[in-house]
Amino acid sequence: MPQTEARTAAADHAPADQGLLFVVSAPSGAGKTSLVKALLEVEPSLHLSVSYTTRPPREGEQDGVHYHFVDAATFERMVQAGEFVEYARVFGNAYGTAAKTLRAGLDAGADLLLEIDWQGARQVRGRFSEAISVFIAPPSLQALEERLRGRGKDSDDIIAARMAQARDELSHHGEYDYLVVNDDFGVALDELRAIVAAERLRESRQARRHAAVLDAMLAAD
Ligand code: 5GP
Repeated sequence: MPQTEARTAAADHAPADQGLLFVVSAPSGAGKTSLVKALLEVEPSLHLSVSYTTRPPREGEQDGVHYHFVDAATFERMVQAGEFVEYARVFGNAYGTAAKTLRAGLDAGADLLLEIDWQGARQVRGRFSEAISVFIAPPSLQALEERLRGRGKDSDDIIAARMAQARDELSHHGEYDYLVVNDDFGVALDELRAIVAAERLRESRQARRHAAVLDAMLAAD
């Protein structure tokens, strides 16, 4: 079971005109990466935060695009310097979200999406009370295992470890605001889009966006 190494931090509160902060977690093999990729394609105003990791790049992964790939010493220096809003160890590798990236994006009014594990999601929720968290679950453990095997990348041992890790991740679904079950990809994508749309339509955000029109209507005789 992964160990949480949460840093304690005072809760940050976003000013009124900040972007939305979406946090998405899922067990490995639930289809999160493909769903998030498809979501970003149809919602270009949503930006993915690029994490730091000590994991070596997989085939096709580019530094600065999929992750910032750093060595363990660099990651540790960043931890000590308080440069992460959250970080966690998953499958023996360290992963973290840089505070600078997050702040810059949100302060510029961008809607950001973090694709992180439950430990990171918990830390982000503690610091950003307005973060919107979404858990993506597979339709069954069997489907999950089939997807993991279908990738054809991992040995039986790795698959068994990932299944155990998946059940651990799954046990945290209740900590999230939304739950999407990825049985049918298209349906799950529509559901993610609905969450984004609904959050953008929250009265508090809409009232700020349309303040002048609302004020004018209310001031009319
Ligand atoms: P992978 O190595 O397959 O890309 O990612 C493994 C796990 O680490 C996934 O659950 C992924 O969501 C999570 N992860 C990726 N980046 C971060 C991060 O910055 N922080 C945390 N806490 N988890 C992350």
